[in-house]
Amino acid sequence: MAIAESDLFGGTCVNVGCIPKKLFSYAAHFREDFEIARGFGWNVGTNEAEPRFDWATLLANKDREIARLNGVYENVLKKAGVEIIRGRATLLGPHEIEINGKKHTAKHILVATGSWPTIPQIPGREHAITSNEAFHLERLPRRALVVGGGYIAVEFASIFNGLGVQTTLAYRGASLLRGFDKELGAHLAEEMAQKGVSILLNANPSRIDQQSSGLKVSFESQAGGEFDLVMFATGRKPNTANLGLEKAGVKLAADGAVIVDKYSASSVDSIHAIGDVTNRINLTPVATAEAMWLAKTLFRGEPTAIDHDNVPTAVFANPNVATVGLPEEKARERFGALDIYKTSFRALKLTMTGKKERSFMKLVVDRASQRVVGAHMIGPDAGEIIQGVAIAVKLGATKAQFDATIGIHPTAAEEFVTLREKAAP
Ligand code: NDP
Repeated sequence: MAIAESDLFGGTCVNVGCIPKKLFSYAAHFREDFEIARGFGWNVGTNEAEPRFDWATLLANKDREIARLNGVYENVLKKAGVEIIRGRATLLGPHEIEINGKKHTAKHILVATGSWPTIPQIPGREHAITSNEAFHLERLPRRALVVGGGYIAVEFASIFNGLGVQTTLAYRGASLLRGFDKELGAHLAEEMAQKGVSILLNANPSRIDQQSSGLKVSFESQAGGEFDLVMFATGRKPNTANLGLEKAGVKLAADGAVIVDKYSASSVDSIHAIGDVTNRINLTPVATAEAMWLAKTLFRGEPTAIDHDNVPTAVFANPNVATVGLPEEKARERFGALDIYKTSFRALKLTMTGKKERSFMKLVVDRASQRVVGAHMIGPDAGEIIQGVAIAVKLGATKAQFDATIGIHPTAAEEFVTLREKAAP
């Protein structure tokens, strides 16, 4: 068993994704936490300059933690008896690979090369960065523009805003987080705007010009603006270029993704692919699950098809968004009649502060079977809360079974078992 790695162990998630992003997100939340603390009697500085944030300290501490994790991953591989080959692998055929000019053969080849952020082909795109670079900025900009309306865009806009950067988010569509329940996008935009992010909808940059005072960004259909940093979070592309996949006979989709069946098998018997490179559901725990299912299929004699149903997910914007199951719109297409339950409230923790932030929760219930087919939330710790709810949804729990569950008081999570009023259709 061998692994070829040309970069750091841990891939996108550990190095330039989930982990450092969440660390940055924690850092960004402290601004509000200090404000909230005042309502509880804490003195956290008396002038504007206090408490103070130091980007260089955050960056150095983050880099140290990521280096530790790189080491942990390497040790896990070594302990499992995996031969580590440092270098970029290219396929020469169904069982043959070349790394650093040396040929190797393998009974099975697994492609798990991930994806890479993309920037649209507009003039001046070379002045913009992606999330890859955002993790290593020498200094924080004064004014930042984040382009996109998906996971990375709303997460980074929230991070920059929390760290004191004057932040603008420009999204080409009418509502953030396309593909999620529509109410989530609308509620999130409102809350992010309340917290100070300037949100431009139906706005798409058409060119970027470097000027002495900053980056001038022109938009397709509205007035432009000037920024010190422009970050594109406009999607990611599977890493399949120059891997020799076509030469080995592996079929690729138009977007470059490896085409696989429900057992993660490519068009070549000996070659499988998992994770972002297959562009199915691009989340770390999904890739990990795909790996476990594949290990069972190939090495335990238990063919195990992928199960992409009811995958919970969280967007670590401020406030957090989390969801499992179907958005109302999709559930309506699939089931027809639905019962919708929802609530919006100010969290107890905010009641002694000037904060107006409202949490939002919604259950989507198939009227015929009474099964809860979607649970959606915006608010503090939404990811932590939805993870538990996801077990019930995955098991096919009914609304009556949610109702029969006793709440934990006082929490926000208890709202999911105390929703009694159906929303008007
Ligand atoms: P997403 O696909 O989530 O969002 C891309 C955004 O960019 C969409 O709003 C899209 O608009 C917009 N866009 C796409 N192309 C263009 C273009 N040419 N011009 C202008 N806007 C464009 O991708 P991300 O890059 O945010 O993240 C990639 C993936 O990584 C996510 O989908 C997710 O699977 C994963 N991820 C998961 C995280 C988590 O679990 N918390 C965190 C970060 C990433 P439109 O909607 O109109 O298509």
